[in-house]
Amino acid sequence: MATAMQNGEAEALLRRELAGEFPDARGRFGPYGGRYVPETLVPALDRLEAGVRRWLKDPAFVAEVEDQLATWVGRPTPLTYAAALSRRWGAEVYLKREDLAHTGAHKINNAIGQALLAKRLGARRIVAETGAGQHGVASAAACARLGLPCTVYMGAVDIERQAPNVGRMKLLGATVVPVTSGDQTLRAAIDEALRDWVSDPNGTYYLIGSVVGPHPYPFLVRELQAVIGRESRAQMARQAGGLPHAVFACVGGGSNSMGMFHPFVGDREVALIGVEAGGRGPALGDNSATLTLGRPGVLQGAYSMLLQDADGQIQETHSVSAGLDYPGVGPEHSLLLAAGRVHYEFASDDEALEALAECCAAEGIIAAIESAHAFASARKWAATHPGARILICLSGRGDKDMPTLQQTLLKGKL
Ligand SMILES: *Cc1c(COP(=O)(O)O)cnc(C)c1O
Repeated sequence: MATAMQNGEAEALLRRELAGEFPDARGRFGPYGGRYVPETLVPALDRLEAGVRRWLKDPAFVAEVEDQLATWVGRPTPLTYAAALSRRWGAEVYLKREDLAHTGAHKINNAIGQALLAKRLGARRIVAETGAGQHGVASAAACARLGLPCTVYMGAVDIERQAPNVGRMKLLGATVVPVTSGDQTLRAAIDEALRDWVSDPNGTYYLIGSVVGPHPYPFLVRELQAVIGRESRAQMARQAGGLPHAVFACVGGGSNSMGMFHPFVGDREVALIGVEAGGRGPALGDNSATLTLGRPGVLQGAYSMLLQDADGQIQETHSVSAGLDYPGVGPEHSLLLAAGRVHYEFASDDEALEALAECCAAEGIIAAIESAHAFASARKWAATHPGARILICLSGRGDKDMPTLQQTLLKGKL
């Protein structure tokens, strides 16, 4: 239960966030964020920060990003009025269609933006890491487009689980390096990508896939994904006649949600709801509900909410959706939680799958299982807010999820 004192602190944090004071000079969003990295990485991060400051405001660079988004990514993505879901839920439901962006999800907005930045910074090659493979595919596509060699580190276990995405990356010209150290999944792949970057910090650019990692990555990725929220805001005004009453987005590392929420944070009358993976239940190890069930700690170069046990050991996570299956979250989300501006909750594996089935039947759209978590929460919220205008970020398409859907929704039906 929040005390009056804590409410005062939350309000002060929110005011500073709205005034654009975060990230501050130390790369912090209030108490969160920063840089928890080996000394050897600091010069590379300083160079990147200087580059971000210079290029993100440069009109020629902005025009270059916008041109790639318009002519190659397929932006603006549509806002779809979900007529059947609206009837079923007793609300007005609008879907922001990131599933229609090139490579099938929002991740390409960030990948092409950072690849363009890498060129401006004089990088000769790109390294990235990937868990489920979606960020690896987006990075490989962006690098092919810009003629940059791309190396993607991927845990050996993930390579086995995500074979179609490995094939896509290879077709797109990337070198996929299997990581057999540590847990042989995303965390080990991140370590290897960092090692590669440190060995040649000037010639190599490290392309991070979400609003995570050391400063300035959470800021950089937010700025590149905020196009989702900016377009949505204008489209809601045009197509729905006003701002939404509530905005829903799923939260893994936090990039589609941060990009969607950012332009709405100052509209205090708009409820912002981030939906995490509730997995099999609230017990440690059964979910990936970092903001809802975690505690602060350091992971991947930043201080943020984290799923850890009583001794501070990072927890194994579970989610039916590979893209949400991660124990950390971007530091700005931790701030927005502390400031009370965004409400975070979780939807279970079963709730997400049920919502996915409903979206298929009602709207003719196979959503990614990640995105379906946002649908599950939106549906519950609609039940207590009849007639409300609801905006949902449909972060990606579900074609990549067919193997999982065959073992769940389609089990015994083929
Ligand atoms: C990767 C992914 C996510 C989760 O990542 P965020 O950084 O939290 O956005 C969500 N949806 C889809 C479709 C993804 O591919």
